[in-house]
This record gives sequence, structure tokens and C-alpha cells, in this order.
Amino acid sequence: MAQCADVVVVGGGLIGMLTARELALAGASVRLLERGRTGRESSWAGGGIVSPLYPWRYADAVTALARWGQLHYPALAERLAAESGIDPEFTRSGLLILDLEERARALAWAAGHEARLEEVAGRALRDVEPRLAEGFERGLWLPEVGQLRNPRLLKALRHTLAPCGVRVEEDCEVTGLVVRGERVVGVEGAAGRVDAERVVVAGGAWSAGLLEGFGGEVKVRPARGQMILFKTVPGHLQRMVMREGRYLIPRRDGRVLAGSTLEYVGFDKSTTEQALAELSAAAHALLPSLGQFAVEHHWAGLRPASRSGIPFIGEHPAVGGLYLNTGHFRNGVVLGAASARLAADLVLGREPILDPAPYALGAERGEVEF
Ligand SMILES: Cc1cc2nc3c(=O)[nH]c(=O)nc-3n(C[C@H](O)[C@H](O)[C@H](O)COP(=O)(O)OP(=O)(O)OC[C@H]3O[C@@H](n4cnc5c(N)ncnc54)[C@H](O)[C@@H]3O)c2cc1C
Repeated sequence: MAQCADVVVVGGGLIGMLTARELALAGASVRLLERGRTGRESSWAGGGIVSPLYPWRYADAVTALARWGQLHYPALAERLAAESGIDPEFTRSGLLILDLEERARALAWAAGHEARLEEVAGRALRDVEPRLAEGFERGLWLPEVGQLRNPRLLKALRHTLAPCGVRVEEDCEVTGLVVRGERVVGVEGAAGRVDAERVVVAGGAWSAGLLEGFGGEVKVRPARGQMILFKTVPGHLQRMVMREGRYLIPRRDGRVLAGSTLEYVGFDKSTTEQALAELSAAAHALLPSLGQFAVEHHWAGLRPASRSGIPFIGEHPAVGGLYLNTGHFRNGVVLGAASARLAADLVLGREPILDPAPYALGAERGEVEF
């Protein structure tokens, strides 16, 4: 016999878990079905920067979600820590960008979006990050940018789901949507048939496969990102630092992440020697003292790439009750909190936190590649 839920969420990455939590907190009966283990794919692999890398390059639709997330993450991280006993370590370490070519555009963007962005030079640059390599004279400093430690955020979030009332089922792949007439009535897969009034697809890079054949092309594809980790000592690097898309993120325990590649190689999650060499070289060029420390770990994840990085959030135009929350590309952490809230608003028919139009399946997204 089919089992029933108000809402089934497909995919237990950050986006699926945040969405399930929002729905359950509003009183919905929610089942979250995850093919493997929750929080082990792109969300685990990410750097946790609570900002798009070059925020001025993005459409307002992305900025609006990011802004909401930046305002709400400190409290959310605190709540998750209190509920789970696991601290996601939200830290406002700031982001120092050493690319100056887009200086004017960056300053104009900051002025128009109430974002703190200062140009720093000489001594002031060294005060921001004392161990920065010689040769850098100027930088763009965003002191308010924070970061979260992804594995901790995911573990904390996972712990809070059952107490909120979410039924989480792992090793539970969804193989198809069950549609009757023009409405979704459930899903089928490893858990058998699960009836639901509404289904939210939050399957990250794998989302498009599930939505094939229902019209309205969901342009989400995998974009591999590789990252390496150095084990240094606490305080060795103090700020997030970036140049030409390569960045360093200092964790509280002294570990330093160096990321990341952007590769279109299908669903291949393997790591490569070439990426290890490139990421190491870029890291040493920013912070030569990293040469004293070993690379402790090297991994890859598949980002859910979408055109212009604008996620798909909202009801499918051709299938009633079927919702999407996917395609967050390079920014699933910073966009995730707002995107989950907005998706829950739309599923529950609440007043949405933001205008949902730019995230609709048929909305114009442009062609910007990141
Ligand atoms: C190297 C790297 C660095 C990054 N850095 C940052 C950063 O600093 N800041 C930031 O904001 N973002 C960053 N990101 C992007 C961010 O991690 C992603 O946008 C985000 O994790 C996407 O979350 P998700 O839940 O959609 O996908 P995922 O975490 O991939 O989760 C999708 C889940 O759905 C499950 N699933 C798929 N299909 C099915 C099915 N049929 N049935 C059941 N389950 C299914 C999968 O198993 C998976 O667990 C980075 C990503 C990478 C790879």
C-alpha cells in the first residue's frame, strides 16, 4: 500500500534539508528521500563562503537571495547549534579580492546594494592579511562576508530534522514522479510508492534527469569543483583571500581550504593530479607560507550548474503540485536559506519573502557562464 505525506522532498543536500525543515516548522508532514547519505554531495564539498565570489557579476535575482541569506545565516547557525549541539562555525572572516580589473564595477555595485566594500592599499592591505605574498599592492576588501563550515552545517541541520518532524529516509533513490492528469500525486523508487500532495525536487546536479519529459526544460548540469585542504595552525591565515577565481578559506582550527576548479566533465567526481598541482600553485602564490604545510585532503563535488547561476524555485508550469528548488550552481550555501524559505512559501501558499518570478522555470536567465 502507498504511504502518504503532505510533501515529499527529493534529495538530502543542503537545499533539500533546509526546504524540508522550513516545511516541517510550518506544520507540514514531510518525508525527505535521499539516494545515498544526506549531505554528502555538492553541499559537503563546498567552501561555505556566504557570498557569491564576485558578487557584482550576478543578476539581481541572485543578489536578492544572497542578501537575505547573509542577513539570516548568523541566527540560523546559532539556532542549529543550539538544537543539535553541533556548531556550524559561522565566522565573519571577510573576503579580500585581489583582482582589480573590475574595480569600478565592484564599487558601483557595493554602493547600489548597501554592501561594505573598501579599496585597501599598501599598509592597510597588509593589516587585512599579514601573510599575503609580496607583490600585491591593492585589494578590494569585503569585511562583512562570512563563511560556514559545510560538513558541520549539514550535520547540525540533519540532527534537527527528526525533532522538527521530518521523516528522513536514506539509501532511498527516487526513480520517477507519479503524475495523474496534470498533477503530481507522489513518487516511486526504493521506498516503493510514496503518495504526496506535493513534491519538491531538490536533487542538485541530478535534478534534470527526474524532471525529463514533463516539459519546460530544466537546464541544470553538473559542474565539477575540486578543492584541497592544508592543515596549518589556528590564525595562520585570517581572511578569505581570492585572485582569479582561486581562493583560500581559513577555518577556526587552522585548516585552510584552497579552491576551486570549474570543470564540465559530466557526472565524474574523481580528483586529478592536474587540479592538485594548479590549486597548490595558486594557494602558494597567495600565501607562500603554506609551503610549510602538507595537503591533507583533496576532493571534488558536482555543483548544480544553471544559466547565470539563477536557481529554479517554484511550481512546475505543467504539473500541479510539483516544485523545484535546484540549480544553485556555485552559490548553494549563500542562496540556500532564502531559497528554502521561498520554496516553502510557494508550496504552502504563504506570502513569499521575495518576488518569485525570476526563479520560475520559464523565466529569462541570460547566458552568463561562471
Ligand atoms: C568545490 C565547491 C565549492 C563550493 N563553494 C561554495 C561556497 O563557498 N559558497 C556557496 O554558497 N556555494 C558553494 N558551492 C556550491 C554549493 O555547494 C551547491 O550549490 C550546493 O551544495 C547545492 O546543494 P544541493 O542540495 O542542491 O545539491 P547536493 O548537495 O548535491 O544535494 C543533492 C542531493 O540529492 C540527492 N539526489 C539526487 N537525485 C536523487 C534521487 N533521484 N533520489 C533521491 N536523492 C537524490 C543526491 O544524492 C544529493 O545528496 C560549492 C560547490 C563546490 C563543488
